[in-house]
Amino acid sequence: MLVRVRSASVLGVSAVGVDVEVDVALGMPAFNLVGLAAGAVQESRVRVLAAVRNLGVKLPDKRITVNLAPADLRKEGTGFDLPIGLALLAACGEVPPDALEGLHLTGELSLSGEVKAVRGVLPQAIEARRAGARGLVVPEANAREAAVVDGVAVRPARHFGEVVAWARGLADLPPRPPEAMEPPAGGGLDLADVAGQEQAKRALEIAAAGGHNLLLFGPPGSGKTMLARRLPSILPPPTFEEAIEATVVHSVAGLTRGRGLLSERSFRAPHHSISDAGLVGGSSQLRPGEVSLAHHGVLFLDELPEFRRHVLEALRQPLEDGEVCIVRAARAVSFPAAFTLVAAMNPCPCGHHGDPRRACRCTGHELLRYRRRISGPLLDRIDLHVDVPAVPVGALPAAGSGEGSAAVRARVAAARALQAARGGTVNARLRGAGLRRACALDEAGRGLLQKAAEKLGLSARGHDRILRVARTIADLERSQAIAPHHLAEAVQYRALDRQAP
Ligand SMILES: [Zn+2]
Repeated sequence: MLVRVRSASVLGVSAVGVDVEVDVALGMPAFNLVGLAAGAVQESRVRVLAAVRNLGVKLPDKRITVNLAPADLRKEGTGFDLPIGLALLAACGEVPPDALEGLHLTGELSLSGEVKAVRGVLPQAIEARRAGARGLVVPEANAREAAVVDGVAVRPARHFGEVVAWARGLADLPPRPPEAMEPPAGGGLDLADVAGQEQAKRALEIAAAGGHNLLLFGPPGSGKTMLARRLPSILPPPTFEEAIEATVVHSVAGLTRGRGLLSERSFRAPHHSISDAGLVGGSSQLRPGEVSLAHHGVLFLDELPEFRRHVLEALRQPLEDGEVCIVRAARAVSFPAAFTLVAAMNPCPCGHHGDPRRACRCTGHELLRYRRRISGPLLDRIDLHVDVPAVPVGALPAAGSGEGSAAVRARVAAARALQAARGGTVNARLRGAGLRRACALDEAGRGLLQKAAEKLGLSARGHDRILRVARTIADLERSQAIAPHHLAEAVQYRALDRQAP
């Protein structure tokens, strides 16, 4: 007898529907699994047979064939265990086949029959709804992410036995109510915790308002990490669509950890020893990297010159395109990767160049080599370069005396609304004609910019970066025109251009 149920294989951030067909026929007892099943799927046979046996069901001595269709799609992961197990029982007459009609199932089975978490359940739920599934059976650990999708009944399962009893009509497998977007937890990191560093806080506000990438430049202990960690607190909360996209990436990476929709922007801070596959995604499994886990959030790279050069070079594509395309063994997938980059670096290898408290021990050559580890093309994609000087302890106001994140976030949201009304893109993404249209200057402004460009020896790209930042500064002031004082402030955020050897 032939039985068919639905499941899916995850490719990049989407799920492709797969028909799981099980046929039980007379012949030499065997269990064959066909349909381009990769390692973990082949091992499914062992887990399914043990789970069925431990349910107390004795399979007939017949030839069992499992086919995963379409056959030309490579299947990966352990999520086919549950659909194969249930279809097998139906093909053996242990479960009425009608009960499986229109069901989409995913889940790994342990030998004793527990239903264990799998990756990519949210994209599977999206696919199940698209295909008009009557119901979706998922591991309980993944139920909240699946329930983000409304319009399909999500039935969490802890044990194979529960699903079998439900399919036999002996017990209920109650659906989970749809998952609403939680309000952000709040009470987290706040800009008011950072004492002093007014210029750096201002730069953080500009970065948030215009979506600009930011490089913090200062000695150890000056508060670069503290500042970077507070950037999400001044960004507007993600929209529902942004939250779904970010949650899908975490789902595919297997990092939802029992949560539903991610209602706060991600903050990812990988160590400088990370590989290029870890940062931008890849490996043989085609998993998303840190740049995609930071989608619609913040990617923080501390000690930027310590990252391997080819790892930093791999950042260029996502910084430019907002997504990553990975090709492995004739397969290509793309992952979204629209993030704000915050990088931090010491001014020199010992960290104390320009520090009034301690003398720098580096030679001119060492200093030069250190700065040159950051390539021009990468620096070109960072609009704001900001000095974060060491502040003598006595000179600090008490933490908590400054402005809080909520007030800054309100200004950021207003500035972003102006950008949306103007063209729909954040200022950091303005290029070419769009940039010239949004950043028209009067005569005084043109003169000022020309003078600055000569003094700093700015390239055409450096010139454009100043225009983009000046546009954001004007937006924060709700000014239609870019005034000379907006440009003058924007010029200050080119610390590295001024100090470049
Ligand atoms: Zn030094």
